Amino acid sequence: EEIQRILTEVDGLACRADADMFFVYVSHKADHEAFLKRLTDKLYRTLQNSRIVLRVGICENADVESEIEQRFDRANIACGKLRGRYSSACLYYDNALHERELYCERLIDDMDTALTERQFKVFYQPKYYIGGENPVLASAEALVRWIHPELGFISPGEFIPLFEENGLIHKLDRYVWKEAAFQIARWKEKYGRTVPVSVNVSRIDIYDPELINELKSVVNDAKLSPKEYLLEITESAYTDNSEQIINTVKMLREEGFRVEMDDFGSGYSSLNMLGRLPIDALKLDMGFIKNICTSAKDMKLVQLMLDIAGFLGVPVIAEGVETKEQYELLKKAKCDYIQGYYFSKPVPEEDFNALIEKEKSNA
Ligand code: C2E
Ligand code: CA
Ligand code: CA
Repeated sequence: EEIQRILTEVDGLACRADADMFFVYVSHKADHEAFLKRLTDKLYRTLQNSRIVLRVGICENADVESEIEQRFDRANIACGKLRGRYSSACLYYDNALHERELYCERLIDDMDTALTERQFKVFYQPKYYIGGENPVLASAEALVRWIHPELGFISPGEFIPLFEENGLIHKLDRYVWKEAAFQIARWKEKYGRTVPVSVNVSRIDIYDPELINELKSVVNDAKLSPKEYLLEITESAYTDNSEQIINTVKMLREEGFRVEMDDFGSGYSSLNMLGRLPIDALKLDMGFIKNICTSAKDMKLVQLMLDIAGFLGVPVIAEGVETKEQYELLKKAKCDYIQGYYFSKPVPEEDFNALIEKEKSNA
């Protein structure tokens, strides 16, 4: 009420977004900094002892004919960009943000067509077992790419977070899961061996009551057994709602699926929770591997995580291994598997075939 009262003085509107977050809409003023100061002072005086953080998103030259929602959304997008930035409290909704908004809308609009036209291509990156004398191809990870007819190659970093935000990821994930299953079946047919493929399971998939049935039919349709199919679940999903996810993972494993914890070390798992986790492997986050050759501290951290995994009795897959030196350090430290550019980038089926054939001729 106090905020609303203050806002009427400055010709604006206020509402509560949620919890202790409020939105304020004020028609455009020439001097934002001064206005911000005036508003902050008033709020401080009224809401004594409260810690108030004001961020201002500015949508200049907004078309006054356009819906207020749109003007507000744009100012709010600019505002969102200020999160975690402390140098300034004002940001313009500028051309770059506008381009970004249009680009995201385009990706969302084009997604259905892309699925039916098979513009999404699944690439595969090998994981090698390095515990023996020579590295051995053990499995692969399915990573999606979008070959857009007009926008060209789009990396998943661009569209996955976007599709996670609005739930579209549900459809895309299922597409990738099916592709990966049929890929395993094709390799089995062609080479007489199983190359297990891991697929990424998004956070929202975990809460889908149909998840287990869907995965079962994915592997059934390709005439595979769940043992040949791997699932990657990011560590941070475990910390969202650990009870529910632990139960889901337990059930998946009872069905025979193997589950790898992705991006391990980037989230906030408690050691206590780790002990109770029903998982088959830990994928060490890339960030830890980056500097192991130059920083003894980083290498020590990796060693500690390998010790934790050893204690839990699960193998470790190091991700993002790019150089021979990194590979050798990890081998010496008794890391079990590695995945990274050192062996191969994610590649399309044909190129992966060559990796399988090379393995065959080595043997
Ligand atoms: P992620 O699951 O952690 O996948 C590993 C990422 O690291 C991949 O990026 C891979 O190309 C990259 N990478 C592999 N080796 C190296 C290396 O040696 N050096 C460096 N610098 N990078 C390496 P990508 O393919 O761009 O995927 C990014 C993220 O997008 C993935 O991270 C995953 O979270 C998500 N993603 C990709 N495909 C799918 C999918 O089909 N479904 C879902 N839900 N997410 C996906
Ligand atoms: Ca992954
Ligand atoms: Ca990862």
